[in-house]
Amino acid sequence: MSMKFDKLMTWKELPAGCLIDEPSTSLRFKTGDWRSMRPVWDSEKCIHCLFCWISCPDSAIKVENEKITGIDYNYCKGCGICASICPPKASAIEMIREEK
Ligand code: SF4
Ligand code: SF4
Repeated sequence: MSMKFDKLMTWKELPAGCLIDEPSTSLRFKTGDWRSMRPVWDSEKCIHCLFCWISCPDSAIKVENEKITGIDYNYCKGCGICASICPPKASAIEMIREEK
């Protein structure tokens, strides 16, 4: 069933299970907007072990020719897994507050 909403509604007024707008994917929405912490990658320290790349739940670690090239902030949600998995001898990713 489709409904037309001609006024702003609170979430309590919405029918259960309704879809707002057309169905979509993260291709249309930059989910990195949700982030409160930002990973900062240091290319000088990185040993390209790819642990961060394989562990990132949002596929936000950018790789070219089996080397890390940076972080896609359009989709990184700032979970910090990459920083926690980065080997201590490298410590190539630091999490900082987003407003810095
Ligand atoms: S902070 Fe989380 S989402 Fe962002 S790059 Fe690291 S592992 Fe991926
Ligand atoms: S886990 Fe750390 S050292 Fe390994 S590729 Fe990622 S940033 Fe580089």
